Amino acid sequence: MVLIVQKYGGTSVGSVERIQAVAKRVRKTAKLGNNVVVVVSAMGKTTDTLVNLARSISASPSRREMDMLLSTGEQVSIALLSMALQELGQPAISLTGAQVGIVTEAEHSRARILQIKTQRIQRHLDRGEVIVVAGFQGISSSNDLEITTLGRGGSDTSAVALAAALGANCCEIYTDVPGILTTDPRLVSDAQLMAEITCDEMLELASLGAKVLHPRAVEIARNYGVPLVVRSSWSEDPGTKVNSPIPMPRSLDGLEITKAVDGVVYDIDRAKVALLRVPDRPGVAANLFGEIARQNVDVDLIIQSIHEGNTNDIAFTCLKGELNKAEAVAEAIAPVLRTSSSAVAEEAEVIVDKEIAKVAIAGAGMIGRPGIAAKMFKTLADEGVNIEMISTSEVQVSCVIDAEMCDRAIAALSRAFEINSSPLQLPHSTDESHSSTVIPAVRGVALDRNQARLAIRHVSDRPGMAAQIFGLLAEKNISVDTIIQSQRCRIIKGIPTRDIAFTLAQTDAEVGRIALEELAATIGCGEILVNTEIAKLSIVGAGMIGKPGVAARFFAALAQEKINIETIATSEIKISCLVATEDGVKALQAVHKAFGLAGKEAVEVSS
Ligand code: ADP
Ligand code: ASP
Ligand code: MG
Repeated sequence: MVLIVQKYGGTSVGSVERIQAVAKRVRKTAKLGNNVVVVVSAMGKTTDTLVNLARSISASPSRREMDMLLSTGEQVSIALLSMALQELGQPAISLTGAQVGIVTEAEHSRARILQIKTQRIQRHLDRGEVIVVAGFQGISSSNDLEITTLGRGGSDTSAVALAAALGANCCEIYTDVPGILTTDPRLVSDAQLMAEITCDEMLELASLGAKVLHPRAVEIARNYGVPLVVRSSWSEDPGTKVNSPIPMPRSLDGLEITKAVDGVVYDIDRAKVALLRVPDRPGVAANLFGEIARQNVDVDLIIQSIHEGNTNDIAFTCLKGELNKAEAVAEAIAPVLRTSSSAVAEEAEVIVDKEIAKVAIAGAGMIGRPGIAAKMFKTLADEGVNIEMISTSEVQVSCVIDAEMCDRAIAALSRAFEINSSPLQLPHSTDESHSSTVIPAVRGVALDRNQARLAIRHVSDRPGMAAQIFGLLAEKNISVDTIIQSQRCRIIKGIPTRDIAFTLAQTDAEVGRIALEELAATIGCGEILVNTEIAKLSIVGAGMIGKPGVAARFFAALAQEKINIETIATSEIKISCLVATEDGVKALQAVHKAFGLAGKEAVEVSS
């Protein structure tokens, strides 16, 4: 018998009428002869209302009491939906997270699922009942049986975890939009529906502020190969398929705390070009990468660090075979930049490095686990490996290092992360041969307005510094996002130094700053800068690998709107720029349009 897990979000069960409509849909699925497990969120904005209630009593309520409070929202909707099903003549039973056997860590407000005991569900399914489960909540594995929640938006995670544990044939996420769109329809009215997206792309988008799917849900789908779709609960349209690769066999024990890192990968075919002291104004990156694209050179990583005075540094990597062309473009552009900015005191300079290697750790288990990147940096530091460039994404952390150190770094990383498989050489183009459709270079665009940027000036340029900084933040449970290390080396008191900047959640910015101020005193670096007036704009697409011109088009769209790029960071399938908060939405709209993602008709958002 086919087993389907369906999840309905807050808006989808926001009123009595909506609950009745959902009941009809569930009944129809069951009548077709399927076993159905339904996961529901709290009605409408209930969770927000509960949060506000708590705040009106306490500025910092305990996480345990918050879980006790917030978990009630889902309990209301499961009971009502179960009643609505019974009214339709459909046998049904509502169960809380605890009753259904969703066992989690004892970590209140952000618990990870350890295990799902499926016996009780199975018993009810065998009786022909539809099971209505409260999303977002679980019960701790400790003797105290604490009620826990999985973090905001966590019902998606409950649903996909149940589908994995039950070996469901499909997990359907029903929401208030037709599926996953090219960008947030509330910000860009002509965002278009995607027919499909890969888990890796969705992980990047989901963590970049596309809240349509909780990133941890995507991580579970990817790890266990759960067939996943996102659809509208208002229509019969097929929605968006989220495709996962064929998963490696994994135990269901420790469901969400399985190994964070699946593999170590490397690339020794790239060289680095850095342009130092280019003017900090709109159009510079567009100019440089436009010319590089015209020469048909594919760039891999791009990093623009925080500006110093009125100049920036931009560094990128390209295939060694294309280095001469890339260098020629950079050399040709540097003098133009010099003459066009009289305010720039020191002249732009081009530096080329052929002897580099990129080593990376990959795996979907790194999300929300700040210790993983820190452990990578520590492992490299212990081997005496200095990190030249860092690039982070949701599923990969890459470091550019001296080519001579590559073998040692790979061996040390494999040991540290207990990787037995041999390290993989990274592909240089997307392999489209086993895909029926051509993967678009850019699948979607996301704007994250909840981030802040922290920067540390003049960190001494030697092994171990990144490990100390990010190790400390990990200890404070702060997840950092994009990490950017400057190319420019400044000699302070005889020691070469670089600046390190990174983004993190705005809510963590103050704690992060205080921690770094303390560290600065002991490791002797410069000023700590905090900027909360930033927005992160990112383009995501697995098809951008090996395709020249994607970055150029992105930067050109921003230049045309006269939007200055503060920093640039990339991963294999993502390019992110920080821009001023006030430019965020305008930038998003321009970039969405530049990649031809805007359709003619606006997609309707239900409410
Ligand atoms: P639910 O309550 O069903 O879980 P959410 O509010 O959590 O729904 O997520 C759906 C919302 O996500 C949409 O209403 C939309 O505003 C927002 N969203 C942001 N980015 C995207 C995107 N790329 N595609 C679809 N929806 C998006
Ligand atoms: N009700 C919870 C929230 O609003 C969980 C969810 O909807 O996924 O965050
Ligand atoms: Mg949601």
